[in-house]
Amino acid sequence: MVFAGGERIEFSASVIHYPYGEIIGMAKLYFKYGAMGSSKSAQALITKFNYEERDMSVWLIKPSIDDRDGADLIRSRIGLEARARVITPEEDIAEAYHAAGRHDVIIADEAQFFTPEQIDQLRTLVDEEELPVLCFGLRTDFLTHFFPGARRLMELAASLTEIKTVCDCGCKATVNARIDENGRIITEGDQVLLGGNDRYVAMCHRCWKRRIREQRI
Ligand SMILES: [Zn+2]
Repeated sequence: MVFAGGERIEFSASVIHYPYGEIIGMAKLYFKYGAMGSSKSAQALITKFNYEERDMSVWLIKPSIDDRDGADLIRSRIGLEARARVITPEEDIAEAYHAAGRHDVIIADEAQFFTPEQIDQLRTLVDEEELPVLCFGLRTDFLTHFFPGARRLMELAASLTEIKTVCDCGCKATVNARIDENGRIITEGDQVLLGGNDRYVAMCHRCWKRRIREQRI
């Protein structure tokens, strides 16, 4: 697994790169996207830790649509966890931020589930409050189409970083395949499935297509 931020350690006036997670001083909208299992939540939490270690306050947020780990918990597979402010689809994030009080940075997990309007609100916070806003999330759904929030992030983010992970074949995984309880790849259904028993496996596009073909035989 390759972590964004890389093996390189650089120091400059505005940006410090750590091997895992990073401190970013520039007021920009960042989108750090990757497939399922690419350690996005872990990186979000490590980044939060890095800021707090420097006495900087972090406003940690997540959309309410994702409730796998309880309403307000961000939990990574390697055991890190933290409580976040949960944002409902109807909420104005800028208003919620002002109500929460001044912070040095905003970190968002599962950012693909914000509405496009909410991504615009985050962009406004970057511009008007001169805040770095770091969004971690998926780019595409189980049928390879953009999540609306991810599309808006692609349009508005000043910095795009792909957090890479690999398919079983060794190629880069880009597809978040939805798998049923029998291990078959599901190719129809709603973009967001709540409460189902299905799970997701990151794989390369070629393996995804091959497995769908083989299922039809
Ligand atoms: Zn593959």
